[in-house]
Amino acid sequence: MLSDRLFLRYQRQVCLSDVSEQGQVSLVNSHVLVIGCGGLGCAATLYLAAAGVGHLVVVDDDLVEESNLQRQVAYRQTDLQHNKAKALMQQLKQLNDSINVRAVERRLADEQLGLEIMLADVVLDCSDNLLTRQQVNRICSQQKTPLISAAAIGWQGQFTVFDYLPESPCYRCLIPFDEITQEGKCSDMGIIGPVVGVLGNYQALAAIQKLATGKFFVEPNQLHLFNGQTMQWQAIKIMRDPECKLCNVSQATTEVAS
Ligand SMILES: [Zn+2]
Repeated sequence: MLSDRLFLRYQRQVCLSDVSEQGQVSLVNSHVLVIGCGGLGCAATLYLAAAGVGHLVVVDDDLVEESNLQRQVAYRQTDLQHNKAKALMQQLKQLNDSINVRAVERRLADEQLGLEIMLADVVLDCSDNLLTRQQVNRICSQQKTPLISAAAIGWQGQFTVFDYLPESPCYRCLIPFDEITQEGKCSDMGIIGPVVGVLGNYQALAAIQKLATGKFFVEPNQLHLFNGQTMQWQAIKIMRDPECKLCNVSQATTEVAS
């Protein structure tokens, strides 16, 4: 049951029949891990906090820089040179004091990343590097934790929900390598602010679907491509790669176990 105060606060989503008070209670009891507090993480977490997701963990080892303010809209000029995860946590707490937000002010890997993913109902990959993306995918795949992944560069964005059901593909099936060339690194390329905002909002929306109603309405395992110039979306089904070393390992382990 929600308190009267929270019922009023969330009434505009509680009044939707497929959310209702039960869905709101699910949101309040949910735990979301957000890897990366750049433009995607800022947009997604503002909406997740506003919607009442009860436990948010935000992870980033970077400091807020002046060139971030063009698109990382949760930060204020007073946050410059402060850790992003901590600054974002403070903004989210000011937005909603009824939720728990925890900042992890360093880059997570291996065991620590595994523990954080174990606590999470869904994971949002809002990171800016392929090494992190592959690690997050590997652990989410092993733990069968839904992963909501997005990326944006220039005027383009992409978005995918990985559900890791049997026979489903993983991020490595789509991108089978661990590093990209120097020319392709996000930190050196241009980006239009609202493009990253659109993609972060998609991540929040997919998370709210799953947490409030128990299912994704958006089709999982599809690569949704956004063109910020024409403002059109295109969807491509991601096929499981028979050569994917992660999916093949998981399958072998499952077969041995069964
Ligand atoms: Zn795979």
